[in-house]
Amino acid sequence: MPTQAKSLVEAFPSDPIRMADVISRFWGKVRKTQPNLCWEWAAVRDPDEYGIFCSGGRNLRASRVAYYLSTGIDPTGDSVVRHLCDNPPCCNPAHLQVGTTKDNNNDKSSRGRGRRGHKITEDQVREILIAVQNGETRAHLALRYKVSKGHITNIVRGRTHQRVTGIMFVGDKGPAVR
Ligand SMILES: [Zn+2]
Repeated sequence: MPTQAKSLVEAFPSDPIRMADVISRFWGKVRKTQPNLCWEWAAVRDPDEYGIFCSGGRNLRASRVAYYLSTGIDPTGDSVVRHLCDNPPCCNPAHLQVGTTKDNNNDKSSRGRGRRGHKITEDQVREILIAVQNGETRAHLALRYKVSKGHITNIVRGRTHQRVTGIMFVGDKGPAVR
């Protein structure tokens, strides 16, 4: 994970006024909802659905920045910021925890994330769209169809299965069935 390799401190300005700007720019991209719910990153995401925040000429993982800005702790080496909610774009510090890369890989394989290409049929794609329109959560659907939440997101945003869904993906703020 190249974004995790270097310490975060050098990516941020040492001047407190400029740093305050960075902090407000960061939280301005986070969709804060209820304290106990996920706060999803509202800007650019990487292919694994983690938020990307640019600072100091680097692309930083948003959840890591959220953890650092709220705790002052920047896990390095074998430690990473993990999501207790298994929702990569989430930046709610209450849902973030430090763990090892090994913990993270175990989580991924036990939850089906990290294994790409899990097959979903065309009928299932249609069922998923209907379920989302009926208010079913992506987390729930991910469990039911044994795929990642990101996979469900990709379907409902039209990033994949466009031929079946008829939804054309036009960018991160594009048409989304929620
Ligand atoms: Zn969360």
